[in-house]
Formats: sequence, C-alpha cells, structure tokens
Amino acid sequence: MKVIDHINAAKDTLFSFEILPPLKGANIQSIYDGIDPLMEFKPKYINVTYHREEFIYKEREKGLLEKIAIRKRPGTVGICAAIMNKYNIDAVPHLICGGFSREETENALIDLQFLGIDNVLALRGDSIKTESTFKPDPEGHKHAVDLINQITDMNRGSYLVDDIQLAPTNFCIGAAGYPEKHFEAMNLSTDLHYLKSKVDAGAEYIVTQMFFNNQKYFDFVDACRAIGITVPIIPGIKPITTLNHISFLPKVFHIDLPEELSKDLIKCKSNKDVFEVGVEWGIHQSQELKKAKVPVIHYYTMSTSESVKTIAEKIF
Ligand code: FAD
Repeated sequence: MKVIDHINAAKDTLFSFEILPPLKGANIQSIYDGIDPLMEFKPKYINVTYHREEFIYKEREKGLLEKIAIRKRPGTVGICAAIMNKYNIDAVPHLICGGFSREETENALIDLQFLGIDNVLALRGDSIKTESTFKPDPEGHKHAVDLINQITDMNRGSYLVDDIQLAPTNFCIGAAGYPEKHFEAMNLSTDLHYLKSKVDAGAEYIVTQMFFNNQKYFDFVDACRAIGITVPIIPGIKPITTLNHISFLPKVFHIDLPEELSKDLIKCKSNKDVFEVGVEWGIHQSQELKKAKVPVIHYYTMSTSESVKTIAEKIF
C-alpha cells in the first residue's frame, strides 16, 4: 500500500522509522533484531536508506594491498523485500541519483515493481567524502526533481526504451525537505522553490531532515503552505544518544541544537547521560508534534532501536 494511502486512512499520528543497510558481513537476523522491538508500535511502513560511499579494500591475494573504491552499499532492495515478507507491512526504499545512470534507475524501479514495492523516497544522495560538491553520474540525474520526473514518467507509462513502451509503474513518491534549509541552498526561499518543483513533479509527501527545535518545523510547514505546497510534511526525529552525536549531528546534517538542549548536553559525562537527555528531548518533541496532529513521526534509528523504543513507549 502507498504511504499516502496510509496517511489518508490514519485516524491518528502514525509511527515510522528508517534503518540503514549494514556493512557487508551482517546477516538478516541483525536487521530483524533492530526492527522487532519497534513492531509493537505498529509502523505501517519502514524506510531503508541507500548509500554510496568510499570503501577501503584490502586485497588478500595481492599481499594486502589497500585500494579505495567508490561503491554503492548493497542491501536496500533485499532488506525491503525481507521486511515485507516477514512483517507483512510496507517498505520504502530510498532511491538516489548519485552513482545511477537513467538506465540503472529504470532497471531498479522495474525490480522494485516486480517485488510489489509501492513506494520510493527519491533523493539526490549525499556527496562522497572526496567530492567537494555532488557529482552526478554522467548519464544520471543532477537533482532529486529529475529522478522524480523519471519515476512520474514511468508511472504514466510514457517512458519509451528503443521505442518499446514500458508497462506503467505505480509508485508513491516521497521527497526530502529541510526545515533549516539544505546546506547548499542560497537561502530558505530558493530551497523551498526547488522543494515545490519536486512536489509539482510528482512527490506526494515530504519527509524532513532531523531537527531539534519544533518551532523550525512548524515555521517550515507554514512557509511551504504559503507557496502552495499542500502535501503532507512528515517530521523526522533523531534522538541524540552518544557524546559523539553532539558534534557529529550538527556537522554532518547541517542542523542546530537549541540552546536549552545544549545546556543539558554540555553537562553530560558519559553516553548514558547523553542518552537520558536525548531521549527526554525526543519525548518532548514527539509529544508536541503529536498534539499538533502531524501525519506521521518518522524516527531516524541509525540502526539502534533502544532510544526510539523508549520514546515510542510514551507516545504511541
Ligand atoms: P535536491 O532536492 O536535489 O536538492 C539538493 C540541493 O540542490 C538543494 O540545495 C536544493 O535547493 C538544490 N536544488 C534542487 N533542485 C534544484 C534545481 N533544479 N536546480 C538548482 N538547484 C536545485 N542521502 C543518501 O545518500 N541516502 C539516503 O538514503 C538518504 N536518505 C535521506 C532521507 C531524508 C528524509 C533526508 C531529509 C535526507 C536523506 N539523504 C540521504 C540525504 C540527501 O540525499 C542529501 O541531503 C542531499 O544532499 C540532498 O538530497 P535532496 O534529495 O534533498 O536533493
């Protein structure tokens, strides 16, 4: 079932979360171990991210020579299929522009369709560490809107390959939005303009980047509505749980931590202290968002479920 249909059918705020495919070497049980504790909160769907990154290979046969390679992290599609099979709920694979030609995107979408997957979250994708700015595949898409246009064309059945018409797909498309603006955007207003172009191209809902100040989300929703974005805007919440998160999250995700939260975090001496503060903050954020009747609260688990479980127990 499509995410938009879950939202339209819901009587109350839904619970959803996203997981990362693990690095090579992990088995499917490790994925289930992360999901199982969250199933009592009845997610209608689970997102599975997609990553392109640098790997260091050590080639045994060649005397442990190190080689750096850019690779797509495998697992997203297989994990989505496994989730649907085991839990009988929907899975939302993330689809990125980076590293994909149009043809590879088309093939990936055809595979997803064969698997009975009804949803995709369409993203540009992060740059890899050695790129100063995002570099698209020479035959691929530069912006998420171009990927969304391709999916919409496929949904319409208007996509021709060698003059052969492909059978229409039927994906519900989601897109990313940034309450604190995307870090590359000149200002929030240009970022919103491009966000609207993603919706006009066919995105049926928006999921936000993590934020720690709910007022930024509420202002973002108002700004979206003011320029004619009418689709549901799902807030993304990430509980801070380790000392490392305090500097890592603002740096990597280009977001601010509110003063009130940082005052408590500064006093933390251990991961356990941070966990308590971060989870309490996540509960407070979630309570306020639920009271505001947001359609879904989407949690970034970063593949550890304990903090999200503790929050969800108080909210759902
Ligand atoms: P875009 O919409 O293409 O926007 C990127 C920048 O370009 C923005 O500054 C925007 O203002 C600008 N822009 C947009 N369209 C145009 C245009 N037509 N002309 C000129 N400028 C334009 N990354 C991953 O690698 N894997 C994931 O699984 C993943 N999941 C995510 C899930 C969520 C909910 C979110 C919020 C982010 C996720 N990301 C993921 C990170 C995301 O890929 C990065 O933030 C990326 O830098 C931007 O992606 P986007 O889809 O928002 O890009």
